[in-house]
Parts: sequence; structure tokens; C-alpha cells
Amino acid sequence: MPRTTLAQDAQEVVRAIALIKLGARMQVLETELALPRDRLIRLYREVTGVSPPKGLLPSSADWYMTWMANIHSSLFYNTYLFMKNEAQCTHLDALTKAYRLYREHCTNTGAEALLDLTRAWTLVRFFSGGILQMTQCCRCSGKFVAYKYDRPTSKACALCQPPSRAGKGAKKSGSAPYREVAAPAEALSLALAA
Ligand SMILES: [Zn+2]
Repeated sequence: MPRTTLAQDAQEVVRAIALIKLGARMQVLETELALPRDRLIRLYREVTGVSPPKGLLPSSADWYMTWMANIHSSLFYNTYLFMKNEAQCTHLDALTKAYRLYREHCTNTGAEALLDLTRAWTLVRFFSGGILQMTQCCRCSGKFVAYKYDRPTSKACALCQPPSRAGKGAKKSGSAPYREVAAPAEALSLALAA
């Protein structure tokens, strides 16, 4: 580990606490912060009162392609890009700020925050790993999360092209589940279009 000043060290601790409060898992903390693992574990326990959960992180990009998850992911990633490119935040600041805004937006619109911080972080990694890209919707021209190597046909976003049924378990005939989830989705779309 490179030598760090006390001030830099303190900043890393502040960043770690912010991430832990937002729900970051150990792998996120270890990747993003220059703090030893044992200190991160102690910080995690201090902030949350419990030990960090074990287990593997989600590793498939397919999760981001399901209808509702795609709307949430697109909203988050558009915000992340704004923070990084327009507000000139570092990757970590952009992640933290965009995630906070995303959660506030969900709270304000009464939508459940489908994306936890680890999912949001993994999403950014899929983008930097060249697996995902933002694609422009052929109807509303908003940008949404898509596979990088999808055929470049004209594609509509999840908001413009909702599935005929909502969720895997839903009966084909029932349109009610769609309406239930569509209301918060429409509220989210306002932020996407901005
Ligand atoms: Zn669209």
C-alpha cells in the first residue's frame, strides 16, 4: 500500500462510512478504498452493528435487462454519467452522489429502490468492462442500459415498450400488475428525460 498522509487516510475513512451507510458490500469497499481489509471490517461493524455479509456478488448483466430493473438502472446510470462528466466528480463521488439521488428519487415517487448500492456499483463495472452501453431509445430518445453487442436495430427503452405482462410469475391475462409498477416507472421517466 502506498504511503498516505493522515488527512488522506481520514478522507478514505469518511468515504468508507458513506458507502457503508448506503449499503456497500465488502468487495465494493475493498475495490474502491485504500484501506486494509481488517479496518474496513471494523468500520463496517461500527457503522452497521453487524458483521459484513459473506457470499458472492451478483455477476450477471442479465439482471439489468429485465423491464423494471432496466428503468431503474438507466435512471441511475444517467445520473452517474451526469455527475462524472458534467459535475466532474471522481468515479467514487459520482457513484455515491448518483446513488443518493437515485434513492431520493425513488422515495419521492413512492417507488421501491430496486437497485442497491452493490448492484449500482456492479452496473458501472459492466460499463467500464465494455459489456454494457447506453443506447438511445428510438421513440423518446432517452438513453437506456443495453448490451454493447446487441444488434444495432432501432430499439425502444423499457418505458416506451413495456412487456405484455409484468414479472415472470404474472398471469397473461392480468394487466393490473403492470399498472401497479408503471405508475412509479412513469415518475422515474421524468428524471430520465431530463
Ligand atoms: Zn423510450
